[in-house]
Amino acid sequence: MPKSGASKSLTGKEVEYLKTVFKLLPGRDIVGSLEVADAMGVSCATASEYLERLEEKGMLKRYRWRGVVLSKKGLEEVNRIIRNHRIFETYVYRFLSVSLEDACECASMVEQHLSEKVVNSMCSALGHPRTCPHKNHIPGGRSCC
Ligand SMILES: [Zn+2]
Ligand SMILES: [Zn+2]
Repeated sequence: MPKSGASKSLTGKEVEYLKTVFKLLPGRDIVGSLEVADAMGVSCATASEYLERLEEKGMLKRYRWRGVVLSKKGLEEVNRIIRNHRIFETYVYRFLSVSLEDACECASMVEQHLSEKVVNSMCSALGHPRTCPHKNHIPGGRSCC
């Protein structure tokens, strides 16, 4: 059985693409592959390859000539990763006299792998913050906030 909250099979690169699609999403429901390629600084062929892998893993759906739409699973996963990043970063920054830059860098390395239980405990210790020190929104935990 997979560990709770851990994403079984996304690679670090795939997570980057997933987050990029999510960032481009506000205000519309479909994101062009070319925009993803531009945002990642890669060729369209490279971006398409990763988007195809994300589709195989059920994170998004590709529409020929139009672009990609995140699935429910993809949205949940990207929200989980963003929450993990921002809670971890806020915790380390607030309690451990680590610079925000270092906290953020470390959060990027572990964000995908933190368990929901640990992140919820950190969230409680912080008093369920709504934003990280960068003033970015922290998605609430279903069983926490
Ligand atoms: Zn932040
Ligand atoms: Zn909370």
